[in-house]
Amino acid sequence: MALSTKPRVVIIGCGIVGATIAYELGRGEQFDVTVLERQPKAPAIAPDAIATYRTGTPGALGMLMGVVSQKVQGRAWDLREASLRRFHTLIPELESLTGTKVAHNENGLLKLCGPDGDLAQWEALAAQRKAQGWPLEVLGTDAIAGTYPQVSMEALGGVSFGIYSPKDWQVQPISLLTALVNGARHHGVKFSFGTTVTALHPQVGGIRVELADAEKGAAPLAPIGADWIVVAAGLGSSAIAATVEETASLKLQPVLGQAAKFQLDRPLAMREPAITGDDVHVVPIGGGGYWVGATVEFGGDDPTAVPVADRDRWQTVLDAAIALCPDLASATITQTWSGLRPRPVGQPAPVIEPLPSCDRIWLATGHYRNGVLLAPATAEAIATALRQAAFA
Ligand SMILES: Cc1cc2nc3c(=O)[nH]c(=O)nc-3n(C[C@H](O)[C@H](O)[C@H](O)COP(=O)(O)OP(=O)(O)OC[C@H]3O[C@@H](n4cnc5c(N)ncnc54)[C@H](O)[C@@H]3O)c2cc1C
Repeated sequence: MALSTKPRVVIIGCGIVGATIAYELGRGEQFDVTVLERQPKAPAIAPDAIATYRTGTPGALGMLMGVVSQKVQGRAWDLREASLRRFHTLIPELESLTGTKVAHNENGLLKLCGPDGDLAQWEALAAQRKAQGWPLEVLGTDAIAGTYPQVSMEALGGVSFGIYSPKDWQVQPISLLTALVNGARHHGVKFSFGTTVTALHPQVGGIRVELADAEKGAAPLAPIGADWIVVAAGLGSSAIAATVEETASLKLQPVLGQAAKFQLDRPLAMREPAITGDDVHVVPIGGGGYWVGATVEFGGDDPTAVPVADRDRWQTVLDAAIALCPDLASATITQTWSGLRPRPVGQPAPVIEPLPSCDRIWLATGHYRNGVLLAPATAEAIATALRQAAFA
């Protein structure tokens, strides 16, 4: 078999960020791409369990809150806009390439505001979004009550207005991840699951990647070589970066989120956008199923401490979800889970940049609460940077 002469890229981590980068880099077919992931297989939602994930992607609700965010310019908006645009082409592209559905909700997002909501601020945002080419509608109480009977107007201390964002979709992260891995394989990307990256060693002409077998007691494996590295290892990224740097520059804090699946015997209503109020989301996933979440829990004074799931905070989210859509009170909770979001300390999310000490090692991490939303824009940024560096 002839050896590939393409530049070798190793992506560390097969969460939503690493998988999207793998797909985008693979699609161009200019690089020889390998993804290394320490879990034994691509992550999945446990079918009927209480699951505790030490990563972000399997726990995410998949809300793509871009147009409805208050970011209007600069990097934060540019990344959101690039991602939203790409999602609208990426999903059909993956469905056609892999022959499988990417579960997603195109009914948009309804954000509800209580008496302390700033109507003038939302009207100004709607005007700005219109100028940017994105629809965003401010709804009065009659319009909400008439169109969305699943919503209680008593929620949030009395709903005073709402914002409907038709282009902010929701995508089921595991369904998307599976399609990305299959799509990337179609373009020749190689995946090695059960493989932990233990260290990176920059050398003349490339990087040596030290590996261990995650399933066989972390037994060392033969190292591999790469021309470029993309560290998309979520919370595991700091430890990998620290093997290269004398002074660690990347600090990530785990922020826990609890969520659950509610099951009804029929959908709450005809029109089913994702509904959000006071940071609590009710996400229709079809067939009378709803994801509800999520808490935002920190570990205390030590930013690296992993938070322990707090029952009271979870109860507050449950109560708030039932206050938003009272018919959820009769649902059965069929799954509960928690996941950890990677939050950068001392710098804004996400971190998309080369390591200060080695420009062949790129960080694509620290996406905190928006890793699903920002994965396509991150992948585009990394693909552009590597193409320029390798072929300019
Ligand atoms: C409850 C909850 C709800 C959320 N809802 C949303 C939402 O609605 N919308 C949204 O956009 N975001 C949401 N998020 C945030 C989102 O989940 C994260 O931002 C995102 O998953 C980060 O993806 P990632 O690929 O960077 O990291 P991860 O998903 O954590 O993946 C990193 C991968 O790297 C692997 N890895 C780590 N170290 C190594 C190593 N040394 N060697 C090999 N592999 C390694 C890990 O096993 C893991 O699979 C939510 C998160 C939670 C917890």
